[in-house]
Amino acid sequence: MRVTSVLVWVWIVMAGAVDAAPETSLKPVARAEKPTTASIPTLSDFRPTARPAVLEAALVEQLTHQFQAEADPGFQRALASQIGMTTRAFAALSPQAIGLSSRPNMRPNGIVEKAMAQRRARAKGAVCGDPDIQGETVGFVPGRLSACGIKNGVKVRSFSGVTLSQQAILDCKTAKAIKTWVNKGMKPAIGNTGGGVSQIKVAAHYACRTRNNQAGAKISEHGKGRAIDISGFKLRDGRQITLLQDWDRRDTGAMLRKMHKRACGIFGTVLGPDSDRFHKDHFHFDTARHRGGSFCR
Ligand SMILES: [Zn+2]
Repeated sequence: MRVTSVLVWVWIVMAGAVDAAPETSLKPVARAEKPTTASIPTLSDFRPTARPAVLEAALVEQLTHQFQAEADPGFQRALASQIGMTTRAFAALSPQAIGLSSRPNMRPNGIVEKAMAQRRARAKGAVCGDPDIQGETVGFVPGRLSACGIKNGVKVRSFSGVTLSQQAILDCKTAKAIKTWVNKGMKPAIGNTGGGVSQIKVAAHYACRTRNNQAGAKISEHGKGRAIDISGFKLRDGRQITLLQDWDRRDTGAMLRKMHKRACGIFGTVLGPDSDRFHKDHFHFDTARHRGGSFCR
């Protein structure tokens, strides 16, 4: 009954009939005073008081007309959409609407600011357009020999949150390949052992020299910023895994062989302790192109 009477009232307001309505027509009863903070309002606090009998009779007559009109499907649709709008607006005007609605929890400002500061710092330190490669842009790196040098070099400090024992000067193609290997080769191979890798031991990066420092040999990929030598890893618990000591051990050796294998395909050349006497203590990764695909040994 109460819901129906509210709907009727809303319908009258929408029809613009309030001013023209006769005295006997429905008149909404004033709501109770705004609740004080001393007591939480209940539904009964806002219930209209009983109408006099004469108004009750008028209401019955009005509802009869109303129900007849509402039997028409077209009218029903129109009324439903109009009341849908009006009841929402009505609810918003209700004095208890704000107080009773659920309020979203605000994030503490400190957390938002910290997250935004971290984001800015990551964006600022990103090189090669990748926030997971942190360092600084070096640009042109001149070579002592004409075959050496890098056109657009970067000096990398960390890959995907793992720092390097020394900053590595590389070109972006190589930096991106190393990042891929860190995520798809190194991290999965080590897993949670020792809490994960905290540092990559970089034995060499850019250096204008011949291959394996042999006189008369070709210029190494290191002289072009396309290579990195990795001699081991420091774990979060302080343990060290080195190529020299762990390659032939059962557990840590398996991890090293796994990440060596995964490097094939990511890099053009992959050399490890089993390749030759020059690589007993490090991985050599470079992005040189070979006709037959990756060279892995
Ligand atoms: Zn090397």
